[in-house]
Amino acid sequence: MLSYSNILKRSLDLEISSVADRLIDWRRHLHQHPELSSHEYQTREYIRNSLIDCGNFIFYPVKEPNLIAAIKGNKPGSKIAFKADLDALPIQELVNHSFSSSVPEVMHACGHDAHIAILLGLANVLSKMKDKIEGEIILIFQSAEEIPPSGADDIISTHVLDDIEMIFDLHVNPEIESGIIATKPGPITASIDQFEIEITGQGGHASHPHESIDTIVIGSEIVLALQNIISRKTNPLTPRILTITQFMTPQLTHGLIPSKVILKGNLRTVDDDSRYNIKKLLEKMANGIADAYEAKTDIRMLAGYNATINSEDLALFVEKVAREYLPDGSYRRLAMPYLVGDSFSKYTDHFPGCFISLGVKLNNIDTIEYCHSNRFDIDESSLQNGLKLLTYIAARKTMSLL
Ligand SMILES: [Zn+2]
Ligand SMILES: [Zn+2]
Repeated sequence: MLSYSNILKRSLDLEISSVADRLIDWRRHLHQHPELSSHEYQTREYIRNSLIDCGNFIFYPVKEPNLIAAIKGNKPGSKIAFKADLDALPIQELVNHSFSSSVPEVMHACGHDAHIAILLGLANVLSKMKDKIEGEIILIFQSAEEIPPSGADDIISTHVLDDIEMIFDLHVNPEIESGIIATKPGPITASIDQFEIEITGQGGHASHPHESIDTIVIGSEIVLALQNIISRKTNPLTPRILTITQFMTPQLTHGLIPSKVILKGNLRTVDDDSRYNIKKLLEKMANGIADAYEAKTDIRMLAGYNATINSEDLALFVEKVAREYLPDGSYRRLAMPYLVGDSFSKYTDHFPGCFISLGVKLNNIDTIEYCHSNRFDIDESSLQNGLKLLTYIAARKTMSLL
């Protein structure tokens, strides 16, 4: 005789496979109709209508185009949340599909279309299983993930999440084999701080450098010195990156030494001490070098997302769920955090959470096209494992006897 938990599991598996094809349809529709950060109104409407169609969802008021939906069981129980993002990127897609982006210079190149599709799949499964839910499951569709501060502050300030027990975020990863679930306890994404160093010297003719304060030479020394912070002043076992991404001067002629140079870059760390110490060292080195040449500096720091710190308990819980309910070999524990940023840290700053990777790597490819590439593409068959994982996370937390 089948136990109650086996009957429940069978029902969940049936519901998951019944929405499998629709996952791909949703993802393709969204992929074809991408919208930029803070402008995702059509995307929001599409999701809202899909949730109304599947029934049993309520909507909490929130600043648009964010959307917060929830399904409540008839009995009290855990309150948990899942987050997906709405926005695409200002990129011209170069992948040739029948469902490639129909909007010039806008592309879902970070997989947010896939994340929305998976949450729509989850909504459909949960709606069918409503009578089994004890508690409340909240689905967050957040605007502007790609541009800090993102819609996360608007969502958190609604206080809808105040009493949640936990929150999860699934993000695709084209480096990991299709369908594999990967996460780790502790830090999983990095803090990203942008900086600008403006160096003001004395312009002059290229033939008389000794009469100028050469901002090009000073800027070059600063670029090299900043690399030494990473290689010589910080612990090599701690993940951190400092990258200069722009070296600019307003000067257009090749015969003159410019009076001003601006360096731009970003700093990525996963712990507060490194973040603080590297910023201090950056200022000290840039100021010290400029000072030696009698140049002036103006250093501007723009704090981005914090590092995402996964709850130890929840990362182990996700691992357990993946091993128990997904096909053998579907789980991998990550050894190191990613040095990319994600707005999910805004939630893990307040609530226990877990950021999870879903492998979407295509078969038979020579070069991995990373997130934000104009050739970014995913293996859509991975979506079902993503849905299965989130469904069983929800079921284990809100359906008794599973
Ligand atoms: Zn992105
Ligand atoms: Zn993303």
